[in-house]
Parts: sequence; C-alpha cells; structure tokens
Amino acid sequence: MAIDQIDIDICTSLSAEEVSGSNPVTPPIYQTSLFTFPTFEKLVGALDDENKNILYSRGRNPTVAILENKLCALEQGEDCKVFASGMGAISSVFMGLLNQGDHVLFVNDIYGPTMQLADHLKGFGISHDRVSQNEAEDLEQFIKPNTKLIWLESPGTMKFEFVDLKKISEFAKAKGILTGIDNTWATPLFQKPITMGIDIVVHSCSKYIGGHSDTIAGAVISKKEIIEKIFYNAFLLNGAAAGPFDAWLLLRGLRTLPVRMSEHQSNAIDVINYLKDHEKIANIYYPDLSTDLKPKDKQLSGTSGLFSFDLVSGGYQEVSTFLNNLTRFKIGVSWGGFESLAISPNRGKNENQLSEIGFSTSMIRLSVGLENSQQLIADIDQALSKVIVSG
Ligand SMILES: *Cc1c(COP(=O)(O)O)cnc(C)c1O
Repeated sequence: MAIDQIDIDICTSLSAEEVSGSNPVTPPIYQTSLFTFPTFEKLVGALDDENKNILYSRGRNPTVAILENKLCALEQGEDCKVFASGMGAISSVFMGLLNQGDHVLFVNDIYGPTMQLADHLKGFGISHDRVSQNEAEDLEQFIKPNTKLIWLESPGTMKFEFVDLKKISEFAKAKGILTGIDNTWATPLFQKPITMGIDIVVHSCSKYIGGHSDTIAGAVISKKEIIEKIFYNAFLLNGAAAGPFDAWLLLRGLRTLPVRMSEHQSNAIDVINYLKDHEKIANIYYPDLSTDLKPKDKQLSGTSGLFSFDLVSGGYQEVSTFLNNLTRFKIGVSWGGFESLAISPNRGKNENQLSEIGFSTSMIRLSVGLENSQQLIADIDQALSKVIVSG
C-alpha cells in the first residue's frame, strides 16, 4: 500500500531544505495554532480557501493533513476531515448537510449517542425514523418526500447484524438521498463502503485506528464537495478539530493496523470457538462471514475483536457476577484497544427497555484485545464457573 509514500511526500515537500537530503521516517508534529505569511496579500489569498490552505489549525494543520490523506486513501474517498472525536465527526455531518424540515432514516443498530443527537435535532426541525435490520430489505415504505439522509451501521456494535450496503446505496441514489455509514467496527481494512456506493463514511478513531486507548478522535471521508460543505458549515464552526499530537498518535496506530486487526480477529475467533460449546452460553452475536451476503458481493473482508453473547438465563446479578470475576478482561466502556474489555448493556434499571428492543438481560459484550487468547479463555472460563444460571 502506498500509504507510507504519503508521509514521505508531505514531509519532503514541507521540510526539504531543513533536512537537506535526509528524511525523517515519522512526520513532524506541527504543534502550532497559526502560520504566518510573508505579506498580507498572501494571507488574504490563503483565507480564500481555508479548506485547502494551511493558516490556522482549527481549519487545517500539516500533521493532521497527513492523517487525513491516509484515511482518505484507505477508504478510497476523495477527501477526509479528522475531528476531535467520533461524535464530533457525526454531529458535523448532520449539522453540515441537514436543514430544518429534513428527515433522516436510521437503519440497523445505531450507536446510542448518535440517536441522542438525532432526538436533540428534532428541536431544530429535523425529524427521523428508525428501521431494523429486517425492515432494511424494503426501505421504500419508510422514505418520505423530505428524506435527505439514510444513516446506517453495518454491522451494528451490539448485535453485529449487517445490511446490504450496495442495495441500499443504489436505492438511495435513485431517489437522490445521501447515504452515510459509521464504519468504526470494520475499520477501513475490512470494509470499504465508498466502493459500494455509500456517500459518507465516519470513523471513531478512538477505537481500532488509534488502537492504544490513548486518543479520542474521529474522521469523515467522502466526495470533495460533501467534505467542503461539512468543512464550512460545521467543521470550522463546531471547532471540533483534532490536535496535531493526536493525529501523530493515530498515524502511529495506522502503521500497525493490519497486524493488530488480524490478531484481534483470530483472538476473537478463538474465544468464540470456546464460548460456542459452553453450557452457560445461549447466543453469540458476531458476523458470520460465511453468510455475509452472497460470496461474490462480500461486504466484509474480515472481522474485528468486538462481539457479544447472552448467558442462557439471568439478569443484572448474573451479568455482574461474571464481569466482577474477570481478571484479564477489564471492566470499561469503549473498545478497539490492545487491552481486553467487558461490559453489559444491562445497567440494572433498564431491563424492561432492553427487552423492548429485543436485547437479552444477560447480554455481555467483549472487546478481545491482543493478549494470548488461551489466557483470555482461561479468564472467561473461571468467571463463568462463578455464575449460577437456571434452565
Ligand atoms: C465510540 C463510537 C463512536 C463515538 O466515537 P468517540 O470518538 O467516542 O466520539 C461512534 N460510533 C461508534 C460505533 C462507536 O463505537
């Protein structure tokens, strides 16, 4: 992949004189808020297109731009903006592209805060509906004359069900509706939605792209004109720009993304193979690549390390017994780092709501890290032995 060439090209063009023939192997961190110009005229010229020109780091910064170029190349888009968080990216897409009176259709499992944002946007005259994975087979009935955007996750990050990206993008194109996907789970390595006709791809870089649980950031990849709209209507005004050091950490993360993802994948499969035959486990939620649409239009070329399962029975008590007995898996939010994590959507007070949305009260989600999988399995095994299930 020519990704490293982008590093070198940009470093070379920016610092050829200073380094006089020798090049740094990692890019410099441009820890500066602004850039000065030799004349006022040059500054005035740069201000004409803040999306392209480097003059103030809330708009554009060279270290961040290297990351943007790489993510853009990985997703095969035309342009990319990196944000201070995944939610910064998602909220800027909505704010940048939607107007009062518009309608958004959400498809499949959607990240909780994205739906909270959608609820908040009702106050600004932007309405929405939600469609489940089954209903996604026939979207026609859910479309309104004012539907501007179809927003989806595939797979979702609780039950990991997928929807047909090609089919949905073709349907939306015929109707003049934009499509956007949160591609955080698959990473740009395992799923490239733009190649399937999706208009906008969003990532929380806080997960696998960073990979070391030390950075919060997000990204949007799309066509040039869509990114330009998001840039001027939202990015520059929301002010959710990523800092140069965060971008540098993410560049470091990208260098090991392929080896980390293959390890997350094989570790998760080891853990799943153990859980499959365990008498206390009822369901395992993980995309099965053998059934991921027809082989010829496979959407996913790999699977990551985040999946969930249900105990055969139980609620908050059983879930918390399991979680509290884990020692290698830590208890915490988020996922995609080197460390294994465990959590449950059951918070004790929300069991009725979970049942309403079709989630078991004994659901547990694991983010399988980069540790030795046999040690992870031994940890799960001893924690499960403490759980008492009936039935
Ligand atoms: C974490 C996450 C986000 C939000 O990303 P932040 O960087 O935490 O703002 C968005 N979508 C999905 C699927 C996520 O898991």
